Amino acid sequence: MHHTPLIATIVAGLGLAFVFGALAHRLRLPPLVGYLLAGVAVGPFTPGYVADQALATELAELGVILLMFGVGLHFSLKDLLSVRAIALPGAVVQIAVATLMGLGLALLLGWTVGAGLVFGMALSVASTVVLLRAIQERRLMETERGRIAVGWLIVEDLAMVIALVLLPALAGMFGVGSNSPVADPLASYLDLGFSGVLLLTLVKVGVFVGFMLVVGRRVIPWILHYIAHTGSRELFRLAVLAIALTVAFGAAKLFGVSLALGAFFAGMILSESPLSQRAAQESLPLRDAFAVLFFVSMGMLFDPASLLREPWLLLATLFIIIVGKSVAAFLIVLAFRHPVGTALTISASLAQIGEFSFILAELGVKLNLLPTAGRDLILAGAILSIMLNPLVFAAVDWLARRLERPSGESAVSISHPGAEAPTARVAAPEASSDPPDATQLTGHTILVGHGRVGSIVADALQKSRRPFLIIEDADNVVAKLRDSNFETIVGNAARSDVLKSANLGAARYLLIAIPGTFEAGQIVQQARAANPGIQIIARAHSDAEVEHLKNMGADLIIMGEREIALGIIRQLLAWQGRDAAPLG
Ligand code: AMP
Repeated sequence: MHHTPLIATIVAGLGLAFVFGALAHRLRLPPLVGYLLAGVAVGPFTPGYVADQALATELAELGVILLMFGVGLHFSLKDLLSVRAIALPGAVVQIAVATLMGLGLALLLGWTVGAGLVFGMALSVASTVVLLRAIQERRLMETERGRIAVGWLIVEDLAMVIALVLLPALAGMFGVGSNSPVADPLASYLDLGFSGVLLLTLVKVGVFVGFMLVVGRRVIPWILHYIAHTGSRELFRLAVLAIALTVAFGAAKLFGVSLALGAFFAGMILSESPLSQRAAQESLPLRDAFAVLFFVSMGMLFDPASLLREPWLLLATLFIIIVGKSVAAFLIVLAFRHPVGTALTISASLAQIGEFSFILAELGVKLNLLPTAGRDLILAGAILSIMLNPLVFAAVDWLARRLERPSGESAVSISHPGAEAPTARVAAPEASSDPPDATQLTGHTILVGHGRVGSIVADALQKSRRPFLIIEDADNVVAKLRDSNFETIVGNAARSDVLKSANLGAARYLLIAIPGTFEAGQIVQQARAANPGIQIIARAHSDAEVEHLKNMGADLIIMGEREIALGIIRQLLAWQGRDAAPLG
């Protein structure tokens, strides 16, 4: 067979990530831990097959681009500006604090000030991918704390872009190899000093942002609208992908901005166009696949033996990443008078380091600023802090529950017709990992999903004046439900805590009006186990789905397409009957 390193890397990466991810899931660990271990397994430090590291890193970059593009799609310029008051000073102060801590540790070890600065900066930036995954998994993207965390991340990203271009100048200041391969050619040509390079970088970022806001804002939505009107789904998908990748790449090549930042802006421009929701969905599957490769490529860099080499140093590094940074962020957010819950979430999301730290460390070593021991510590610190991040979140959730029991911005107030109190608070479980407040209803109907199907059912239920509640997980739908009178539980109905809070055991009917059969099947199964007598109607779109839901225990499955066909036939027969009727 001919030499196919790219294919081999993708196959080994995705294949092993799948196996390890499934295993991790089985052991009740986040799949992410499995992806990292898959990376360690195909990495150069463990025996057996070794994947191509350079290729894996490049593939991971694609994941970062698509992820940031997706975030941009959820983020308008207005959102970004609305959090600048905290995100900007917050990120800057936090970077400064973490850098100082890193510098302190480096000086204790007898490294130079330059080494300490690079080391500290590398410990100060959180990984985009890890942070976004955590925020998305908890469905915090639309909440204030989610917006602050993302805004904070954008500032960190910008700071790192500036740091990367300044590093060669810094190396020059410390009298070490200033002829770096990444030195800005324009800056070297103009022979700029430290402040000159800083100014040039800021100007380039400014020009890029200005260009996107003036030109991109007109051209990109126009292209998408044009393509949407061709009616070709394939071309639309391609257009979304092409725009995300081209803008990111162009930003990096022409303006010296990071790929991630470029992709973020491409997405943000699109978020102003009504097509953005569709664009987001079109890029989802690819994004997820490449995000997995990101974790695999991180795992590949990890040498398990390094854990044993300098355990105390590693612990000190981890302490700075997980505790030092978090406490700094926590205090800063509190100082801005945000609730404790917000401060805790933001601290937890920043308590890890990743891709930017590697890039900084790599460059630091290349410039002879950072000893290789520093890079190894950063690598091990990154892998461990990423693995520990879900635990940090769990700890923070626990703390938040103890500290702010009665309040919490994630709570949704929805009025409760007929209840004594005018409003019943139903918490969003993903937002806090708290189980939502349980309903008081008994003998009720549970309606899952309030989309095209569920909303019609809900109106009928309301007219019948029988008790019912809705479970819905899409933010935009929940926002609309907030204005209605319906009792609502916010969250994914396939989660057992969400179902439990709907008081399944005492419910009479369960109506599943969501299109996803996999989730619907899980809901049916759990409901049947909790309440053997409950009557379940589910929704399906093919015979295979009907079969599956039946096996899971649904009493009646309505196949959408069949009902549409019957509706068409009924109407046709009515028309034909009318046409055939003798003229009066
Ligand atoms: P439609 O296909 O228009 O009837 O919309 C289905 C609705 O169900 C949407 O509003 C989704 O947000 C919602 N939905 C889908 N899956 C779930 C789930 N697992 N839990 C709660 N709501 C869901």
